[in-house]
Amino acid sequence: MEVLPDVYSLPVDTGAFMGTYPPNVYLVKGERVAIVDTGYGDEAALSVRRQQLADLGVTRAAFIIITHHHTDHRAGAEALRSATGAQVLAHVLEKGLSRDDSTPIPADTWIEDEPVLDLGNLHLKLLHMPGHSPGHLCVLVQERGILFSGDQVLGVGTTAIEPVRGNMAQHIASLERLLTLDISIVLPAHGPPIHQPRRKLQELIEHRRAREQQVLALVGRGVTTVEDLLPEVYPELEPRLVDMARGQLGSHLAKLEQEGKVVARDGRYSLS
Ligand SMILES: [Zn+2]
Repeated sequence: MEVLPDVYSLPVDTGAFMGTYPPNVYLVKGERVAIVDTGYGDEAALSVRRQQLADLGVTRAAFIIITHHHTDHRAGAEALRSATGAQVLAHVLEKGLSRDDSTPIPADTWIEDEPVLDLGNLHLKLLHMPGHSPGHLCVLVQERGILFSGDQVLGVGTTAIEPVRGNMAQHIASLERLLTLDISIVLPAHGPPIHQPRRKLQELIEHRRAREQQVLALVGRGVTTVEDLLPEVYPELEPRLVDMARGQLGSHLAKLEQEGKVVARDGRYSLS
């Protein structure tokens, strides 16, 4: 499915995906081909994507870029590499990371800086944008201002920042850095394209800052634990989202603690 000139999405109907949007896999068809993320690794998904490659006339690809280690982004990597001969790239800070019982990213090249990949007529700049995960990459098509944002910016809602591998301060810094770039459209790893990137980025930054102020104010009023903060911050939370919400609060509190605004003792927070 062509989403923009020379840019395709390879959609697979995965049914319900955690109640949200299934992972997007994108293909940039310059004089050479690059694929951004690889979706799930089940045979049903892979056979659909192999057929889509065939329909696009793509038998070879130069690069497969994995934005980060989460299963829905990297599980199809081996199969798409076999199908295209592409080299798989990921950021070195994602090396060895995996979630659940999944295997790590099978990268051929671990990047440490921000290289530009040459597709001939188009150039892809890999941008290290940590926050959702330590070595998260966004990909900018330099000639067009198209940003593949991975999970850093989603088509709908806000991304999960887990306290262990996520980092709220880095996430906000990455959003602020994205604001400084010349971006015309964002193609996220989940959900629809974002046609007004600046407005979206500003909204996301504002949302995180407002949440942080809310948490700080609640702690100041004597709401001292994550469990007590949960119903105050998320009054109408669906049960299946409780763990995620706990993680978000944990990430906000970790940032505030690092900045010396709160202190933690035995799982209780207070203003410093
Ligand atoms: Zn993710």
